[in-house]
Amino acid sequence: MPDKADLVIRSATIVDGGGGPAMRGDLAVAEGRIQAIGALGDVTGEREIDGTGQVLCPGFIDVHTHDDRELLSAPAMTPKVSQGVTTVVAGNCGVSLAPLVTDERPVPPLDLLGVEWFRFAEFGRYLEAVDAARPVTNAVFLVGHQTLRYGAMGRDLDCAASAGETAAMAAQVEAAMRAGAIGLSTGLFYPPAQAAPTEEIVALAKVAGAAGGLYATHLRDEGDALEESVAEALTIGREGALPVVFSHHKATGRKNFGKVRRSLAQIDAAAAGQKVALDVYPYAAGSTVLLPQRIDMAEKVMITWSEAMPDAGGRYLHDLAAEHGLSDQEMAVRLQPAGAIYFMMNEADVQTVLRHPMAMIGSDGIPTDPRPHPRLWGTFPRVLGHYVRELNLMPLEEAVRRMTGLPAETFGLRDRGRLVPGAWADLVLFDPATVIDRASFDNPIQTSAGIGMVAVNGEVVWADGAATDARPGRALRRAA
Ligand SMILES: [Zn+2]
Repeated sequence: MPDKADLVIRSATIVDGGGGPAMRGDLAVAEGRIQAIGALGDVTGEREIDGTGQVLCPGFIDVHTHDDRELLSAPAMTPKVSQGVTTVVAGNCGVSLAPLVTDERPVPPLDLLGVEWFRFAEFGRYLEAVDAARPVTNAVFLVGHQTLRYGAMGRDLDCAASAGETAAMAAQVEAAMRAGAIGLSTGLFYPPAQAAPTEEIVALAKVAGAAGGLYATHLRDEGDALEESVAEALTIGREGALPVVFSHHKATGRKNFGKVRRSLAQIDAAAAGQKVALDVYPYAAGSTVLLPQRIDMAEKVMITWSEAMPDAGGRYLHDLAAEHGLSDQEMAVRLQPAGAIYFMMNEADVQTVLRHPMAMIGSDGIPTDPRPHPRLWGTFPRVLGHYVRELNLMPLEEAVRRMTGLPAETFGLRDRGRLVPGAWADLVLFDPATVIDRASFDNPIQTSAGIGMVAVNGEVVWADGAATDARPGRALRRAA
């Protein structure tokens, strides 16, 4: 038994990320990794933390983020660290910062990553830039189909990619995988990708699959054609011979409420023959760029930013339209380019998806948004405080498994997501009696309550409600 450690957390309620029952004990960290777990009375730590009454578990893995630029421009990663997240999965919805070089404002939704940050012709150079930025959290990366498409086809995106363009995108996928990407993402819902036929994605998925990657998808349609879109993604998974991750699973639009029971049954049935996974955010509203042709899918639309009318942030589209004597649609065009929150889901559906044993948690937060959806700051504490403690939707150990062990296994994060000796010491200590999100739609930039301590790669990055100076995160490359 070792008798010296860098950090010892004492008398905590240990939830190991595997879903088994909690147990009381100590945990010691040395050289970035978990050294020992159990009754460690004979071990002394350079730093000691009393974990009495607190849950100690693996750091949360935010499986669905748009943090690609944040990792470079705001490496403190405060929205994530403050809620216990220690690793983010970036490059979702077909939107990745690399590989693309452009000085222009890229077509929406690529502009969610900002307008001056597309500077990386090679995926590997982007990963190096992330390492050089020394972010507080770890990150893994998908390569985005919309980014590839814009790079290969420019603004002529209303058609299928030609054979030459597809080959160019496939070569980029191959290079990204070689550099350490964990797979391919698409956002077939979005205008730059809508004209891409299934075969175009299959061609790219085959390349990612051959390299051991996975396929994460924002479906072509999460409303009227939800089931057809799930079927398309499953086809891409089978033909590309790679796992499918259904991003932010939901049914949008009032007439589609309840449909998630059928789409989840479809995914369950497919699981017998192919690898599938899914994630969800714990809110009945979504957020993305303002799409004038799509506003009718929502009951209410709140503007989060507008280049044309900066004062519109935080206002409802319908109120703005009335003030200007315009239709909602005309107003949405007037506000471009812009971002919005769409109140478009059913709370019962959100809970149905959250209860599904495959459902991982992903914030889908948009950190560049000046008035972001509250999921950016509140997702993980909201699951633990609201859905687990208040609504008893699932046991705490199960919620932690879906935030840690399950995503680590799904995304191939070696030696992470579980509290076992030898694993990287990505840790969260939180108070199960008080943990809760404080960010709201009206006041979205708020840290959460109850997160006592967060460590990344063995270094404490958050303690007593504030960030420390440590910046131990890194770009994790796909394990070969
Ligand atoms: Zn998405």
